[in-house]
Amino acid sequence: MGDESYPECRAQELFDEFVSSSTCRAALGSFSQLCEHLQLDRSGGGGERPLYRAIKHRLNYWRANALWAKLDRRAAQQEYQKARVCNNITCVIIGAGPCGLRAAVELSFMGARVVLLEKRDSFSRNNVLHLWPYTIHDLRGLGAKKFYGKFCAGSIDHISIRQLQLVLLKVALLLGVEVHVNVEFKNLVEPPEDQCLSTCAEVGWRMAVKPKSHPVNQLEFDVIIGADGRRNTLPGFRRKEFRGKLAIAITANFKNRNTTAEAKVEEISGVASIFNQRFFQELRQETGIDLENIVYYKDDTHYFVMTAKKQSLLEKGVIIQDFADTALLLSRGNVDQNALQMYAREAADFSTNHQLPSLDFAMNHYGQPDVAMFDFTCMYASENAALVRQRRGHQLLVTLVGDSLLEPFWPMGTGIARGFLAALDSCWMVLSWSQGGAPLDVLAQRESVYRLLPQTTPENLQKNFSLFTVDPTTRYLNINRLLVTPAQVRHLVDTGEEA
Ligand code: FAD
Repeated sequence: MGDESYPECRAQELFDEFVSSSTCRAALGSFSQLCEHLQLDRSGGGGERPLYRAIKHRLNYWRANALWAKLDRRAAQQEYQKARVCNNITCVIIGAGPCGLRAAVELSFMGARVVLLEKRDSFSRNNVLHLWPYTIHDLRGLGAKKFYGKFCAGSIDHISIRQLQLVLLKVALLLGVEVHVNVEFKNLVEPPEDQCLSTCAEVGWRMAVKPKSHPVNQLEFDVIIGADGRRNTLPGFRRKEFRGKLAIAITANFKNRNTTAEAKVEEISGVASIFNQRFFQELRQETGIDLENIVYYKDDTHYFVMTAKKQSLLEKGVIIQDFADTALLLSRGNVDQNALQMYAREAADFSTNHQLPSLDFAMNHYGQPDVAMFDFTCMYASENAALVRQRRGHQLLVTLVGDSLLEPFWPMGTGIARGFLAALDSCWMVLSWSQGGAPLDVLAQRESVYRLLPQTTPENLQKNFSLFTVDPTTRYLNINRLLVTPAQVRHLVDTGEEA
């Protein structure tokens, strides 16, 4: 290898390392090295947006080119106006879950400066997400297959949470999202009262994060998106509770050794007709396990999610003592972990007709067998999708996406599909905001679209996925963007004064 080709070879090597990295830390590390090697300046939100264009000029080889072609096609959508439509906006996103990352990607295509905070620095959730056809199409269009060759091969319509995060993190980095891991959002900081008006520029909205010394504490921004999961930390959003009948879900992940015998075992999708009343009766008679449904996906792990009846959990000794209060019922001290493992293993074994050769648990984030029990009796949704805060002449658009906005029922697999839709809807609102839309109009439109979300199914979306863009009219059927009037959202503009 001659000296002259060395920098280029090294760049290709670093790019390959980045593309194939399998952890969050490795992806961030190899991307930094790549940018350093290519002498890209990423400090302070400066530089070209989307960032991959600058990389593309310096890294012209086949593997990278295949990805650039995908990203170029996407970036050409007219709504983005060549990444200029939101280039006057700085957005903060709290949480690098799939929905926070999906929103980050979209905003970067629109040219916004995007700063994403994640309190952890690893992606460790084995659990598997069901993907609706449009999400598969969306992710393919973002180059998912280039990062994860197994992505939705054949009829597969699912992905583990951590693989999905990893794919989206890589896309986000290439687009120029500034990702800060080990940084926890704490609260919003209002523009100060005693601005020094004569000499310095006014200070707008900021935030407090942990660690306190982190430079993003000084960042000023126009939009903040809460994508931090079901325990949303952004204040001001009232939550509606949907109380159903008692629903206890168990998730379990077993090691997938990718043997031929394992490959032959059929998955159980949520609607599989063989899993009818007779199946559940036989299961109950033979094992004492009483389920309402079960789903099995073969992914990096063998993943099972099932809803179990309380009485059978009591009889099988999984739940130690009966309590009317579900929190108490499922509290750590009232669950026998060994019995839970046995219950999940037996259910998995029976439902796959004893065809999985070994049912050894995969390990979770804590190095423990990956089995867990969750309560879905009450699920929450935010009453509103967005609000505006106004202090001392500075406006801040605040919005929620993903589980923070609308909690999904996992066995139905609605989390990612509705999560991505809401992420795009919120980005569409940011677009109107950046164009100078009046707060009440912007909020009213966002609420009108949000009313559709809980009822959205694969059937009532537009059919031509290749026409889907950030504009909600390209995705929803029968959309009325004026359903909610500006007068109905007055309470969502918070000026700090008593109503
Ligand atoms: P999440 O994926 O929850 O991501 C939120 C992110 O925000 C996390 O990375 C978190 O670390 C970060 N964060 C939180 N607070 C802060 C803060 N203050 N500052 C910075 N970062 C913060 N769905 C299914 O369909 N099937 C399943 O089996 C399933 N299992 C799950 C298991 C667990 C343990 C969890 C938490 C969720 C599970 N889900 C499952 C739900 C599914 O993961 C979500 O619907 C999907 O990931 C979309 O979520 P999201 O991006 O809105 O939030």
